[in-house]
Amino acid sequence: APTIGILAVQGDVREHVYAVEDAGARALTVRRPTELEAVDALIVPGGESTTMDKLVRAFDLYAPLRSRLDHGMPAYGSCAGMIMLADRIADARPDQQTLGGIDMTVRRNAFGRQVDSFEEDLHIRAIGGTPMRAVFIRAPWVEEVGDGVDVLARVEDGPAAGRIVAVRQGSLVATSFHPEVTGDHRFHQLFVEIVRGNA
Ligand code: GLN
Repeated sequence: APTIGILAVQGDVREHVYAVEDAGARALTVRRPTELEAVDALIVPGGESTTMDKLVRAFDLYAPLRSRLDHGMPAYGSCAGMIMLADRIADARPDQQTLGGIDMTVRRNAFGRQVDSFEEDLHIRAIGGTPMRAVFIRAPWVEEVGDGVDVLARVEDGPAAGRIVAVRQGSLVATSFHPEVTGDHRFHQLFVEIVRGNA
């Protein structure tokens, strides 16, 4: 089974560890460059992207992470992790950087204060069966994507209908929502299949 690292400087690491193991892969928390060397792929969890960005630098992980991504390591980012994997942030704070990798612009906290957090059933391309329950917590949305990016899901109801909330570019995937918190681990299974080279 592949070993999937969970970036463990900040955020909901434990939920991803459980989801990865349930999806049939080995999980390893990654806090040091040597741990990063030991994994086949990486998940960047939900949390707070400005803090995560600072801690990645403080833990001397920025350059090794960039290097692994440049060499094709598969990665999956949920929520703050989606922001970390975005090439661009709309109206970014001057001091916030991302790892990048996916040719997209994300907007942080995009759904606004009125709808800080919400849940919706979503149809996700590449995942069969019933729609997936998607939990959004101060989530970003994807404002625009480059030609090489596949849109996997959009919001289906309400004022934000049509907004992009799941994407794939090669072996990089990202979701605005948190599939690690619902017990439905089909998105993690998809990622494991991507890591195995089967999807
Ligand atoms: N609002 C957070 C950010 O901008 C993301 C929230 C989350 O990961 N649940 O980083």
